[in-house]
Amino acid sequence: MSEIKQDANKKGLLVVVSGPSGVGKGTVLSKVLESSDEYVYSVSATTREPREGDKDGVNYFFISKQEFEKRIEEDKFLEYAEYNGNYYGTPKDYVEKKLAEGKNVFLEIEVQGAMQIKTKCPDAFMVFIAPESKEALIERLKGRATETQEAINNRIKIAERELRACLIYDRIAINETGKIDECAADVMAAVRAEKLKPERIFDKIKQFIQ
Ligand code: 5GP
Repeated sequence: MSEIKQDANKKGLLVVVSGPSGVGKGTVLSKVLESSDEYVYSVSATTREPREGDKDGVNYFFISKQEFEKRIEEDKFLEYAEYNGNYYGTPKDYVEKKLAEGKNVFLEIEVQGAMQIKTKCPDAFMVFIAPESKEALIERLKGRATETQEAINNRIKIAERELRACLIYDRIAINETGKIDECAADVMAAVRAEKLKPERIFDKIKQFIQ
């Protein structure tokens, strides 16, 4: 897996969004993404079975384990991880292309993958979405009637581990029950403020001061 090389004149921001399963990352992110055409979403590849309502190429690229392992060999992923018995990975080509176009690319990934991104792309901006309480998270996971009790219990265990990793992120946004818009606004504000950092803007200003 190699690092992303960016054109200094066109610097899209790579934004990593993580948070325990059931916290509502997907809903928060869709609100963020619809707020600007400068924001794009990287659709991941996975070996997990599609859930009801999942669309291939929209929610994920659903591929076989064999195909996923072939793509690992071919270095097609920016990062990948095994989660709850399945592979998930970020296609490198799409992310590189969009960043080069100056778009801000959002990755919705779990913490092992986020740590890989932090090492390989230290410029990435890392946002963690946390639940307001453990009870609220468990309720939301139970509400996903599509999964077995065993799968839900496993997700709760993984959530506890993921919440411990939140300190590696640059920002934490709390998704309080019934306050999705506020959480999305926090994420948007964090991303906008990050883009205003002098070191991210200086390349554009340099030409005036030579
Ligand atoms: P789910 O099965 O609920 O769709 O996703 C399970 C977990 O995998 C979520 O935390 C989700 O953010 C994460 N995930 C989705 N795509 C990727 C990816 O490309 N890479 C990694 N590392 N995690 C991913």
